Amino acid sequence: MSTTKYVYDFAEGNRDLKDLLGGKGANLAEMTNLGLPVPPGFTITTEACKVYLDEGRVPESLEQEIAAHLADLEEAMGRKLGDANDPLLVSVRSGAKFSMPGMMETVLNVGLNDESVAGLARRAGGNDRFAWDSYRRLIQMFGKTVCDVPGEAFEHAIDDAKAAKKVRNDVDLDADDLRRLVDAYKKIFKDHAKRDFPQDPREQMDLATKAVFDSWNADRAVLYRRQERIPADLGTAVNIVAMVFGNLGEDSGTGVAFTRDPATGNQGVYGDYLQNAQGEDVVAGIRNTVSLDELELIDKKSFDELMDIMAKLEHHYKDLCDIEFTVERGKLWMLQTRVGKRTAAAAFVIANQLIDEGLIDLDEAMYRVTGGQLAQLMFPAFDTSGSPKRIAKGIAASPGAAVGKVVFSAAAAVAAADAGEKVILVRRETNPDDLPGMIAAQGILTSRGGKTSHAAVVARGMGKTCVCGADEISVNISGGKFTVGGLTFAEGDVISIDGSTGEVYEGEVPVQPSEVVQYFEGSLAVDSSPLVTAVHRIMTHADEKRRLKVRTNADNGDDSGRARRFGAEGIGLCRTEHMFLGDRRELVERLILAHEDDERQAALDALLPLQRDDFAEIFRAMSGLPVTIRLIDPPLHEFLPPLEDLAVKVAIAEASGRDPGHDADLLAAVRRMHEQNPMLGLRGVRLGLVIPGLFAMQVRAIAEAAAQVRGEGGDPRPEIMVPLVGAVQELETVRVEARGVLDEVASRTGVDINALIGTMIEVPRAALTAGQIAEAAEFFSFGTNDLTQMGWGFSRDDVEGSFFTRYLDLGIFGVSPFESIDRDGIGRLIRIAVAEGRATRPDLKIGVCGEHGGDPDSVHFFHEAGLDYVSCSPFRVPVARLEAGRAVLDTAGSDSR
Ligand code: PEP
Ligand code: MG
Repeated sequence: MSTTKYVYDFAEGNRDLKDLLGGKGANLAEMTNLGLPVPPGFTITTEACKVYLDEGRVPESLEQEIAAHLADLEEAMGRKLGDANDPLLVSVRSGAKFSMPGMMETVLNVGLNDESVAGLARRAGGNDRFAWDSYRRLIQMFGKTVCDVPGEAFEHAIDDAKAAKKVRNDVDLDADDLRRLVDAYKKIFKDHAKRDFPQDPREQMDLATKAVFDSWNADRAVLYRRQERIPADLGTAVNIVAMVFGNLGEDSGTGVAFTRDPATGNQGVYGDYLQNAQGEDVVAGIRNTVSLDELELIDKKSFDELMDIMAKLEHHYKDLCDIEFTVERGKLWMLQTRVGKRTAAAAFVIANQLIDEGLIDLDEAMYRVTGGQLAQLMFPAFDTSGSPKRIAKGIAASPGAAVGKVVFSAAAAVAAADAGEKVILVRRETNPDDLPGMIAAQGILTSRGGKTSHAAVVARGMGKTCVCGADEISVNISGGKFTVGGLTFAEGDVISIDGSTGEVYEGEVPVQPSEVVQYFEGSLAVDSSPLVTAVHRIMTHADEKRRLKVRTNADNGDDSGRARRFGAEGIGLCRTEHMFLGDRRELVERLILAHEDDERQAALDALLPLQRDDFAEIFRAMSGLPVTIRLIDPPLHEFLPPLEDLAVKVAIAEASGRDPGHDADLLAAVRRMHEQNPMLGLRGVRLGLVIPGLFAMQVRAIAEAAAQVRGEGGDPRPEIMVPLVGAVQELETVRVEARGVLDEVASRTGVDINALIGTMIEVPRAALTAGQIAEAAEFFSFGTNDLTQMGWGFSRDDVEGSFFTRYLDLGIFGVSPFESIDRDGIGRLIRIAVAEGRATRPDLKIGVCGEHGGDPDSVHFFHEAGLDYVSCSPFRVPVARLEAGRAVLDTAGSDSR
């Protein structure tokens, strides 16, 4: 015989038993044990739910356990369930570990039938109206929940009853109207459920319990769990609670309340109250509620008691609580409490208040806010109170709120920006050519590509708003328009894009600037608002606490400066390829087309001073801090015009008898360099080994720039990073050449800059041979974008827009591995590389510079894996600082999900 206990009386539980009793059951137990007025009841555990969902039937012992607890409940209440003369009624309420508001089912007034309805009326002092109203509610809720009767059928019937009587509100129906309505409801029930409404109270209770169990797998609950990343196998508990009635007259009512304002965090209670009503009326908005303050005028005794209880709950839970309560004939009952959900701003403000009130310490405050919340606070947001028209939804690629006129090319974006216009660059997808347009635009909208597409990565790096992969939109670049849902937008039409939600709106939506960013930038004082004060205090603590350093990915002086103001402790990745665009592209062309050594050298010589200036600017902005510069990485043909464009140009020239000249040479080069899989082709370290002088030119530019800045009194600290290494021999060859250049510059300038030479670990083979690679590398930096791409064998530029949705649906992963590190697979490669790298070279400096460096969950992983630093885009730096602090704390703690 099974000894598992499936049913707990409220007095037997406590708040720590959320896994077993669900959030609602655990907190009802906690309140019961605090001596608060909770109606008696018991909880059927999530374990019972799991058995039922797995085996299609409830555990054998459950029926008896319920019977025993029901008997106790009946004794406590002095009434029997559904008794004809004086019925005990119960509610059957869902309650999972994590709150899933409105996602699962509840049935009230269980125990009423054709006989007990009269008993209830008697008990309610001859209040027939109340009894029949309760009965019709039971049939309605039971019908919908247990037997899938369409809700509208009941709603039509009640509307008909009100119309017949020419009244607007439910409360205007009298006992006779409601008795007739019960008959109508029973008929509706029978028509749909093909059986009579069950008259046996225990059968009602058991069927309602199973329906609550089943509601765990309702479509909307499944969807909600996926969105909130709640595991699918937790199951729900069921709470059987003695009914108390808020609909017994004007001296009764029901309400919801918060112990602080969940929107702003402001102190003071907030809530709504509805006289003569049951719980679902408040939520359904059937009648207008009044504010909690008015309860004081209506029923001062209940109000005062409620205030006392709320203060007690806040002190006990040491956090904002939300509650549901009912007043039955002047007696207050607590029906629910939990640590309440709140906005990102309120989370910071409340955490700070609670420190001041001595309820929590700084560690706990830091633990209660998240990097995700901080990120939300850093972006300007749309004020959508005017209900703007949404035209599409894409992937929220880089947060923020951008408004502007539509343009379809980088050139148009630059021209418009020069003319002082705000524009949104709309493309099917972007490539490095679009960079000037991306810089000029307020935001970027693409119809293809995922979170690591070019548009997304570059936009995040710049802190620019971006929505990508909005595939409802059909972009017609040559036609100068895009269409969506029957609407056409031409160049110059205004749209608004929300990079935090992926939403795209027609026209201009008003924007609110972020005060948190103004504070990080130094333009708002610490005491300028409660929010800024709270952010400052918690960030200061995170900085004291964290072990991981936080660097930034930046490749110009402006971004470096901003990142430094945001708290970056150096640059973890300076991508040099952006320095080869614009006017300089021509020099790269010359380099690629060079047939002779001297032609190649001339192109490199022309690039050298330009690169030197780039690096000098960055060294000045990051004086005193390490700057990791990655030698050029992408395939060089990315710097040449597209094959199709060139082919057309050459064909037109030839057809009209002109000499295509330079274009013909370029076309030949593009054809020669074409690769089926460029990401697995001639890029990274391979370029350095194949194109003579290219890496040496970059190293020379770094060394000379450092010497120059040192001469100006600055403190440049370059680190030279070689990309895409898979074998120690590749790195060794480049290292020897680079060391030679560094020595040569040192002896010529008399300034030895002591640059470290290290490598990215982004090819799986590099991770697996890290012990060997560390012999030639003075530092490692994990390029987790490529490591994920090559580890999984799928293209980071394509898959998020193609099959990832299906993979997410199938649960193959809960979140894109390009967004959050795949601990089991890619994470294992990282752990191997850390261990073997440090075994060879104990002082090996190790960081990460892929997109994951700014992802909260991944930061926790990198902390655990023993890295020295994470590097991320400037706008993610504060997020990484906070999460690196949180990663130090024991992960057990309060959870307000
Ligand atoms: C990486 O691969 O993680 C990386 C940082 O390099 P990139 O994204 O430039 O390929
Ligand atoms: Mg890479």
